[in-house]
Amino acid sequence: MKTGIMRTAFPLTYEQRTALRRKFDAIAGSTVEWTERVEPSLIGGVQVEIDGMAYDSTIQAKLSSILKDLHNIEPIRSLGDNQFDFKSLGDSLRQRLSTIEPELIVRGSGRVIRSGDGVSLVSGLSGCRFNEMVEFEAGGYGIALNLDEETVGVVLLGDDAQVSAGQRAWGTGQVLSVPVGSDLLGRVVNPLGIPLDDGAPIHATEMRNIESPAPNVLARKPVDRPLETGLVAIDSMIPIGRGQRELIIGDRQTGKTTIAIDTILNQKGGNIACFYVAIGQKASSVAHIAEILRREGAMSYTCIVCATASDSPTMQYIAPYCACAMAEYFMEQGGDALIIYDDLSKHAVTYRTLSLLLHRPPGREAYPGDVFYLHARLLERAAQLNDKRGGGSLTALPIVETQSGDISAYIPTNVISITDGQIFLDSELFKEGQRPAINSGLSVSRVGGAAQTKAMRKAASRLRLELAQFREMQVFSRFSSDMDKSTQEMLTHGERLTQLLVQPNHAPLKMPIQVAMLYVLTRSLLPNDIPMSTLNKWKKTYPAFLNQRYPSLIMRIERDKDINEKSEKQLVESIEIWQNEAREAQ
Ligand code: ATP
Ligand code: MG
Repeated sequence: MKTGIMRTAFPLTYEQRTALRRKFDAIAGSTVEWTERVEPSLIGGVQVEIDGMAYDSTIQAKLSSILKDLHNIEPIRSLGDNQFDFKSLGDSLRQRLSTIEPELIVRGSGRVIRSGDGVSLVSGLSGCRFNEMVEFEAGGYGIALNLDEETVGVVLLGDDAQVSAGQRAWGTGQVLSVPVGSDLLGRVVNPLGIPLDDGAPIHATEMRNIESPAPNVLARKPVDRPLETGLVAIDSMIPIGRGQRELIIGDRQTGKTTIAIDTILNQKGGNIACFYVAIGQKASSVAHIAEILRREGAMSYTCIVCATASDSPTMQYIAPYCACAMAEYFMEQGGDALIIYDDLSKHAVTYRTLSLLLHRPPGREAYPGDVFYLHARLLERAAQLNDKRGGGSLTALPIVETQSGDISAYIPTNVISITDGQIFLDSELFKEGQRPAINSGLSVSRVGGAAQTKAMRKAASRLRLELAQFREMQVFSRFSSDMDKSTQEMLTHGERLTQLLVQPNHAPLKMPIQVAMLYVLTRSLLPNDIPMSTLNKWKKTYPAFLNQRYPSLIMRIERDKDINEKSEKQLVESIEIWQNEAREAQ
């Protein structure tokens, strides 16, 4: 025989009791031994629990579902002069309330066995699914991460002080979802889409599950459009395509975040929605990034999703999935989106913390067994969709921090094997002043080459080779003092090329400018014997010079994505004029 609890706001009459018992005995499929409780807080209706399932038709449950629904209502509009549009608010309220069905709510129910450190163990909850939202009696939600025979391990989203042993908990049958839509752009939000800036609540176009399967093979097409970062070293040698996943990896303080932020800045005037996900960082660092984006006018197309070091581990764990859902919306609409996960090493550490608290068996470096899947399922969601699916794209730039340049540690090797290439930042180069400190020998882009513009391919064709030769020669030149003329020339040429790749932060260069500068240097249009100071002056002033004097040249390269004979001639001419003017100015 099964046992059940029947809760009502008022004591039941004999007829009510018989009718209810008959009904629920039929649902349970056997006779049930009933305990009755009177709880006035239910206001009306009945709540029944049999064998870990809860049936709720109380007014309290309905009121709370109405309350939840009201969060989605449009904020009241101001008509000016301290007048507000109450009529449309009334209309939308009426419309919302009319859609709420007075249904019997059926869900799994259980009890909290123990709780602490942001993790709760709940017994009962039969039928609970992986990643299902669990609601607690004291208010607040958690996510079911561990499904055992008798118990469910739940990580808490909110304040864990409220949840205590003995309290009831219910499965909601739903996976966590977040608001998505273009209202997110220009905002700083937490992973659940709640604003952290002073702005109005986010008006969601729709709600989207934070976990969704990655587009399958048939829904994709090869990467064929470039995503320009504005950094010469990357766009010329390690090009990134839309829909690609390119890892930015390096020790601490080597300029990882700067590369990501500069890439966002370079999308100004384009049509890419950018998402920057800060995981486990200091709130002050995120504020600094928001400030840079705002100052450079990049916030209008960017959303910062922020779970700082002081947020609960659960918030930090779900942050990348939530932000990915937000960015995916733009891809599904046929648009382009860019998402930056800063950084996945901290994300893995947070997941390790949660897993250890949930008593999962620790594996290598104490990470749980599924830590590979943790990032694989996230990064697989980046894609270039085919035309049938709208042709949208989601490009992912995950960041991973290494210890003493060790890229063979557990998390770095995992993420390297999932992504389509990596940009490796070297702390030695960074200290030498080569910034961005990209180690071109260890950096690759496996798919982006196909997306590179013809103009860039032409201009940068010899760059990689010449730089490699230069580095080799540089090593030899340390041993011998007398070098022949051609070696000497190769060394100066190499030094110049390296100098071109040095770029200040937050000063991305557009593709035509990069192409022109690379063309000038690789074809040695500037005489080899000019001093380094002149070269640096050229680097600083030439972009503005071209923009002012040769707007048609810039436009032609931008339009054709190629360099034709006319452009080549104009470049030669521009260099002569620039040199003459520089000489006169001296
Ligand atoms: P962390 O490990 O702390 O996250 P990080 O690798 O993300 O660091 P950044 O914060 O991007 O590194 O950069 C570290 C410092 O180097 C910053 O002060 C930044 O201004 C400076 N920096 C980065 N790139 C450049 C650059 N190209 N030119 C000049 N300075 C730079
Ligand atoms: Mg950083």
